Parts: sequence; C-alpha cells; structure tokens
Amino acid sequence: MLMNGIFVVGAGPAGIFAARQIALAGIDAFLFNRDIKPGGLAEYGIYPLKDKMKSGLRKQFSKVLELPNVHYFGHVQVGAPYDVTIADLDAMRPAAIVFSNGAQGTKKLGLPGEDVKGVYAAKDFVYHYNQLPPYATMDFSSGKRVAVIGMGNVAIDIARWLLLDAPGRETGEVIIVARRGPSEIKFDKKEIEYVDRHLDRDQLTQELERVRERCARVGQDASPETVFENHFRRLKDPAFTSVPPRLSFRFLSSPTAILPGDNGRIAALEIAENELVLRPDGSTAAKDTEARTKLPVDTLIFAIGDKHDAQLGLPMGKEGYSTRPNPDRPAEPVFEVWDPTINAVLPGRFVSGWARQASTGLVGIARHDGEVGANKAIEYVKSAADHGTLSAQEIQSRLEAKGLRIVNKLDLALLARAEERARESGWLGLRPFSDNDAMFQAIDREREQMQSSTSEGDRLVPTT
Ligand SMILES: Cc1cc2nc3c(=O)[nH]c(=O)nc-3n(C[C@H](O)[C@H](O)[C@H](O)COP(=O)(O)OP(=O)(O)OC[C@H]3O[C@@H](n4cnc5c(N)ncnc54)[C@H](O)[C@@H]3O)c2cc1C
Repeated sequence: MLMNGIFVVGAGPAGIFAARQIALAGIDAFLFNRDIKPGGLAEYGIYPLKDKMKSGLRKQFSKVLELPNVHYFGHVQVGAPYDVTIADLDAMRPAAIVFSNGAQGTKKLGLPGEDVKGVYAAKDFVYHYNQLPPYATMDFSSGKRVAVIGMGNVAIDIARWLLLDAPGRETGEVIIVARRGPSEIKFDKKEIEYVDRHLDRDQLTQELERVRERCARVGQDASPETVFENHFRRLKDPAFTSVPPRLSFRFLSSPTAILPGDNGRIAALEIAENELVLRPDGSTAAKDTEARTKLPVDTLIFAIGDKHDAQLGLPMGKEGYSTRPNPDRPAEPVFEVWDPTINAVLPGRFVSGWARQASTGLVGIARHDGEVGANKAIEYVKSAADHGTLSAQEIQSRLEAKGLRIVNKLDLALLARAEERARESGWLGLRPFSDNDAMFQAIDREREQMQSSTSEGDRLVPTT
C-alpha cells in the first residue's frame, strides 16, 4: 500500500506528461489507458507518414514509462459502460485522478441519413488508417467522390490520405465543404502544401468568384488574388499545373441531408447555400438562404471536431466535461472538475489535454496542459490525508479479477520486440499487428521466448 498515488486516465500526450510530472514530484503515477499502446492521437491520429515526428514522440513516451514510479495499465477503458467505472477506481484509493482521456465522442449534425453507409466521423476514419483496433479492421471504404466537411488540418490530412496514400485508392475527387468562406480557413500552410498540386486553379477561381460578393458584404476579401496569397501560394506560380486526382472547395455550404442510393450507400449530399451575417463581436455566422444543391458523392467525412465521451461518468457542461466556473478570468484554463448539481468542485478530480478542451491544439499544447493539470493534482495531494492507494501489483490483481487482460510495461516491451522482429523479417506495412488479439498473441510468443532464455529474461524486468 502506498500513501498517496495519483491516477491518470488516458495515456495520450497529456496523460503521459501528466504522469511524468507526478512521478518527478516523487508521487507514484498510475496510467489507465483504453488502448494497448500508449500515445493516443500522437500514435493513432498524426499522419502515418510523419515518421520522424512519431518516432521522436514514441521515444519521449518510452522514457516516461521507464520511470520506476510510473505504472501502466493498458487495455483498460474507464467509464460507466466500459471495463472499470470511476467508482471502481475510487475503490483503489487514489489521492487524485487526472482525466486525460481526450475527446472520444464524435460530433454529428443530426441530419437525415447520417447513419447510411459511407458516412464517417473524421477521428474514426483517421483511427482506421492509423490502424487502431478495433477501427483498423472495420469498414471505412471510400469511393470516387468524397466530401469532407470542415477546413482544418484534420480535413487536409484526410484529403492527403485519399488523394495520395490510401492503399488501392480510387478517389477521383475530394471536395472540402465549408459553411463559411475562405477567411475561415483553419488549416496550416505546411499541411496544404502536401495536396495543393491537386487543386485546379480555374475551378478554385470560379468557386471564389461564386462566393466573392457574399463574403464582401461582411467585409471579407475572397478575391482569388488574396486567397491564393494567404492560403494557396503555389497557385500564384504561372507555371502551376494541376495533377489528378482533384481537390476542390465548396464554400458557404452547409450539409442538410444525406441521400442514399439503391445500394444503401450515400449517393448525394444535399447542401444549403449560405449567406454570411456579422455578429456583434465582429465574427461571422452562416445563415441558410433556403437554396439547395445536391453534390453527388459516395463518401462523406465529418471533420468538424470531436466531443467528450459522456459515458465516462464525469459531470457534463455546455462545452464537455464540466469545470469550475471562472467568470472573472475567462481566458484562464481551469482543470478542476465541477459538479453543477451541487455547485461545487469535485475534490481530487482534474481534466487535462483534449479532455479539458476538445480538439484544441497540437501535441506540445496537450503536453503542457497535462503538466499543468498534474501540478494542480500534486498541489491538492500535498495537503490531502493519507489515502492508502493500492500498490501497482494490487491494482493489477483487482483489474484481472474483473476478467480484464491488462497490458503492463513488460508487455509493451514484449510487443515492441515482436514488432521489431516482424520488421526484421521483412514486414513493410504500417503495423504488423492491427487487432488486439494479434497483439496479445505476439506478447505471449515473446514471453515464452523470454522465459526460455534466461539472459533475455534478465534484461526485461517484469513491472507494471
Ligand atoms: C487527425 C489528427 C492529426 C493530428 N496531427 C498532428 C500533428 O501532425 N502534429 C501535432 O503536434 N498534433 C497533431 N494532432 C493533435 C494531437 O494528436 C493532439 O494534440 C494530442 O494527441 C491530444 O492529446 P491528449 O492526450 O489530450 O488526447 P489523446 O491523444 O486523444 O489521448 C487520449 C488517450 O486516452 C485514452 N482513452 C480514451 N478514452 C479512455 C477511457 N474511457 N478510459 C481509458 N483511457 C481512455 C486513449 O486510449 C488515448 O491514449 C492531430 C490530431 C488529429 C485528430
């Protein structure tokens, strides 16, 4: 039994760096992670070909997990309908819990036909091509004409995958559909450069001319010159020539209905033509003009952000998990969970990373958020009474008594070794094991080998 350990739910960048902060403060950190592998969206969201970035992050994550007072329980999903509830965690007597479980819910618009085949949420689609179980083996088939709703980096990642890298790809056109105009583009210059060769300059010019006047009415300059200068520099080059497949944009358009074909798959997307209206704070809102157009598409992907998983068991507010109100300093991040039914902070409960603010920021921001959230928890624990947190061994036994197969740090090392072996023997794909059973079998095989070789066994010390 320990005096006071801190639990961290989720081992993405926020959770891992929260655990590091806790461990460096001399407190045991216990990571509970839904996936077998740590890393969250850094492992299963960041574009598969960003190898250097991903392997750099993996190294940093491994270093954190090597800390002796960081304990890992992978393949454990926390939440009311899942493997363990928050009450189950409380029964293991943590002094505090930092929730860093990201934003696992998907935003839907509630449109007619949203559940037909070929309609996906961006994160699920991204999890699929990054081969996260169980998404890796689910049907995320795409066709010839794909509409992607949203103008952020995730939408561009998906376009890049469909246009350039999807195995056996057959996409002829990706259409980025946005409810407002080009002034609201959110993607970075670096990201669009992967796909801007697929734009057709004449077509984009025509689209900008189509919406130019409507944008001008709210003071936005949607002239091709300005938009090319701000977002599509390559198109300014007179020698630019477009390469297939095609990337196109459709501005001032909101999806209103999904129309299935005879095969049950989406056949068309109905969109509303929007006007822009100025809000009192100077921002713009899209207003439906009642005019409708149908875009024939066979795949539709919503890249409009994610929301928090309400099944986790934390109180929900307007923006996701409810945090302490802070009207005097609205810009200041708040990490303490708030129960609106009793108007009080839930003692010892904190949120960080995308679990605090869904779909906000890159890995560095999530890391920082995890560290600051952990500092709040450390501060709280310093003045807390002795909770008698269970030891890692006791926690593992409790979880196993629930029939769960837990992945600990030794298992991660065994899995890494099995992946290395697969690569050495010629595996060239993204991941040698893309479902949980295959990963468990690989871990078991490596364990057997380790046990039959004492010298290797000495090198891999079993530890949670
Ligand atoms: C498509 C895409 C591309 C991106 N590309 C980049 C990029 O190129 N560069 C960059 O810097 N950033 C990129 N980002 C952003 C970056 O991935 C995030 O900033 C970061 O991963 C958020 O970290 P997090 O720990 O808060 O959440 P996540 O990374 O989502 O981690 C959440 C963790 O919680 C676990 N979990 C979830 N639910 C539960 C539960 N109920 N119980 C237990 N565990 C749970 C998950 O298994 C996961 O390990 C990208 C994001 C997306 C979606």
